Amino acid sequence: MSAQVIDGKAFAAKVRGQVAEGVSKLRADHDLVPGLAVVLVGEDPASEVYVRSKGKMTVEVGMKSVEHRLDADTSEADLLAVIKSLNEDASIHGILVQLPLPKHLNEDLVINSIDPAKDVDGFHISNVGLLGTGQKSMVPCTPLGCLMMLRDHHGSLSGLDAVVVGRSNIVGKPMAQLLLGDSCTVTIAHSRTKDLPDVVRRADIVVAAVGRPEMVPGDWIKPGATVIDVGINRLDAPEKGEGKTRLVGDVHYESAAAVAGAITPVPGGVGPMTIACLLANTLTACCRANGLPEPEGLTA
Ligand code: NDP
Repeated sequence: MSAQVIDGKAFAAKVRGQVAEGVSKLRADHDLVPGLAVVLVGEDPASEVYVRSKGKMTVEVGMKSVEHRLDADTSEADLLAVIKSLNEDASIHGILVQLPLPKHLNEDLVINSIDPAKDVDGFHISNVGLLGTGQKSMVPCTPLGCLMMLRDHHGSLSGLDAVVVGRSNIVGKPMAQLLLGDSCTVTIAHSRTKDLPDVVRRADIVVAAVGRPEMVPGDWIKPGATVIDVGINRLDAPEKGEGKTRLVGDVHYESAAAVAGAITPVPGGVGPMTIACLLANTLTACCRANGLPEPEGLTA
């Protein structure tokens, strides 16, 4: 194996440390405490795990953490009323509605009811437009985490060929916008892309965000390229015992690591960066709301 392993767990710990420092400075200099509210509708077990760990880490960096847990059959009007109260609450600087929402709720309507300045997930249509036009916005957490790791590894990304596989609104498209913002030459690939192996082979940077286990093999990777694997896929692992599973990415790790210059593992790569960037976005939102300088190195 030749690739340098990009340790997302260690990087995320460093980012959380920077956030904690920023929070303690805000408290000392301005008597301000950033507040993050997470709204969870229903009892999806995976969402429960995310929300619990978000709450724990929010408190660990010194922020105020608020959780609103609503029943699975909550009406749209009741959910919108909770968001309205959080929009109006001056002690809350970030609002995150945990997705997916139960089917009877209109996700776009709900997300677009969040105050864009508090939209720490960066999914509000205003933030999407601001990012797309290269203006200051709240940036979706997973692509922001990928960008931070890429900047850390490469220094400047200017002029590099980047291929993003996947065009979702939460990962692929904002990732492509961020890479464009850093002056990469960007290709977005998707399920209709012709000759995907050939497209990926041209890339200095490959970001895989597809949701198909190990679909990008090593022989698609240009020697020395940087590979960021966003995928989280659970496979059966009978070798670990009955009913056991293991996590794999969208990239075939062993074969890709043999040719890449650097690669993120799964688990322990992009995943831990997502919550760290949520905390970074909350700090940024608090600074902006109070007309203070933004924390350095924690924004796009
Ligand atoms: P989506 O399902 O919303 O999007 C998947 C994208 O992959 C689509 O654009 C689709 O193309 C494309 N695609 C599907 N099949 C192929 C194929 N054979 N060849 C090329 N492209 C293909 O997924 P998300 O963006 O939400 O998530 C992607 C992965 O990232 C998932 O594994 C998810 O779990 C993970 N993830 C990880 C996060 C983290 O914190 N680490 C956060 C968010 C997601 P088309 O549009 O044409 O259908």
